[in-house]
Amino acid sequence: MAIKTNETTDKHGILKTCRRTTENVDTLENVVPYSILCPPPECRRIGTTIMICVTIACGTHSRMIAEHARLAEEGIKLVELRLDFLRREPDINRLIPPRPTATVITVRRQQDGGLWRDSEENRLTLLRTAILAEPEFVDLEVDIADQIPPFGKTRRIISYHNTETMPENLPGLHREMLKKKPHFIKIAATPKTVAEMYNFLKFIQQKNDESQKLLGEKAIRVVGICMGEMGKAARILSKRFSMPYTYATFSEDRIIAPGMLVYEDLLGLYRYDQINKETAVYGIIGNPVGHSLSPLVHNRFFLEHKINAVYVPFQIGDASVADLLRLAPELGIQGISVTIPHKVAVIEHLTKADPAVERIGACNTIVFRNGERIGYNTDYIAAMGGIEHALGGNPSDEESVLKNMKALVLGAGGAGKALAYGLVHREAMVTVTDVDSERALELSKHLGSEYVKWEIRESVKPDIVVNCTPLGMHPNVNETPYPKSSLRSKMLVFDAVYNPEHTLLIKSAQEKGCRVVTGVEMFVGQACYQFKLFTGQRASGSTMRMLVKEAIMRMYRE
Ligand code: NAP
Repeated sequence: MAIKTNETTDKHGILKTCRRTTENVDTLENVVPYSILCPPPECRRIGTTIMICVTIACGTHSRMIAEHARLAEEGIKLVELRLDFLRREPDINRLIPPRPTATVITVRRQQDGGLWRDSEENRLTLLRTAILAEPEFVDLEVDIADQIPPFGKTRRIISYHNTETMPENLPGLHREMLKKKPHFIKIAATPKTVAEMYNFLKFIQQKNDESQKLLGEKAIRVVGICMGEMGKAARILSKRFSMPYTYATFSEDRIIAPGMLVYEDLLGLYRYDQINKETAVYGIIGNPVGHSLSPLVHNRFFLEHKINAVYVPFQIGDASVADLLRLAPELGIQGISVTIPHKVAVIEHLTKADPAVERIGACNTIVFRNGERIGYNTDYIAAMGGIEHALGGNPSDEESVLKNMKALVLGAGGAGKALAYGLVHREAMVTVTDVDSERALELSKHLGSEYVKWEIRESVKPDIVVNCTPLGMHPNVNETPYPKSSLRSKMLVFDAVYNPEHTLLIKSAQEKGCRVVTGVEMFVGQACYQFKLFTGQRASGSTMRMLVKEAIMRMYRE
């Protein structure tokens, strides 16, 4: 690869080619005062300034330049240019001298998760050349850092990447990185368990807290990145662990590392700039949790109620459930929502539980208080509230409007158990059915309700039809668990499915003149109850209902 050169190398072997004046360039000190990245003792306050480095990874120079300009217009102060993504030979002259923001230059090898296809020799030459143009930062992997001596004002991010596991000897690696004349250290690794993630974050926090006590050059702060979906929470919480900055991408189609967040979400949804060491942590555990609307709802509640808290997604497998619940207080977690597939598995780890959790056999909310792990089920209360209100009653009425009404519950899984329990509890006459007849039979025995085979469910003639199967859910929007021909105008139809809100069952019921309660009511209701359990404060469902409906429409273009 021929780097564009017109001079020779200096005594360090650095090419003196691309030196450009930076007269018209906003230096990092102007744009992002150095005190923020490496604060002097008198102004070491973490959490007062947004510090997100937005990564640009695209295949052509013109796209990279255009995106960089657009990000600058959006007010973004720090950008990482991933030169390994360029399909053609990188031309430093085009990318660095006219940079509109502070810039990190990175040329990542394939073994570290990058796309660099040319030789290692040419990669090192490119890095040396880039430094001559004096970008604010250059990213150098720990094993090659000695081959690229410090130059000019460019600050060195000494990095380590492990896309498979965690480093075997983290303290040893950190000591090694300190020898490479770093301004910052970046360690990106892949935890497989919550315990690994926790130990990693604690180590990084300890190093950053230690470095805060040091002065100037010695204050080397560490950015720790947990790669993978599970690590998303750690990226959001990085400021809580004293990290100086984090990385994000500008749009969803530009996510180049597993678990990387979109800038807008990091700032808008999770309010990264507001997170500090006092921020209370809440979240959702499940697998997957990527499309959960709970972060949207709870973070908005916190904003409206001016509570210093953040709600993050924890995508964890079965093996990590016990670890997460054990380490939750250490991670600053005060409460969690629980979704599929962990609603049953969490129960054995609770120290206390609402009686409904035992009766239903599912828990969707855990509060951590005074060393206790207290479980609740807000799914059933929310659904029952929606149904009773639609019938002109109230869940707090001593005698329920549901008393002696005939209810058919379709589906005997998690939601079915919660709804059937709620209906029996409020003295409705319940019949349970499921395509899995054994499951439905077991549930009906457990609750002392009726059972009907799935194939003859229309024979029941209920007052209330409750769908707790995924039938009608995106993308199978043309399916329904109960035919329109069997619906009667006096019926109430409840559908737990909320994506889309207007399922075929709900649309058919509306056309037949039935009263309907949608899954959005249940979803918003259970979140309001959770918020009350988490914070002791009452949340209003009305704005949230709109927010959730809009989000669902955006996601599924209903
Ligand atoms: P789940 O535990 O998997 O239970 C669903 C039940 O329906 C299972 O017994 C399942 O049987 C059965 N089923 C699946 N496909 C079927 C079909 N084609 N015909 C008949 N029965 C079928 O799921 P869940 O947690 O109860 O959730 C059910 C629905 O409620 C989902 O759409 C979920 O999104 C929704 N939900 C909404 C809220 C809310 O806040 N609105 C809360 C919880 C759940 P198999 O296991 O044999 O497939």
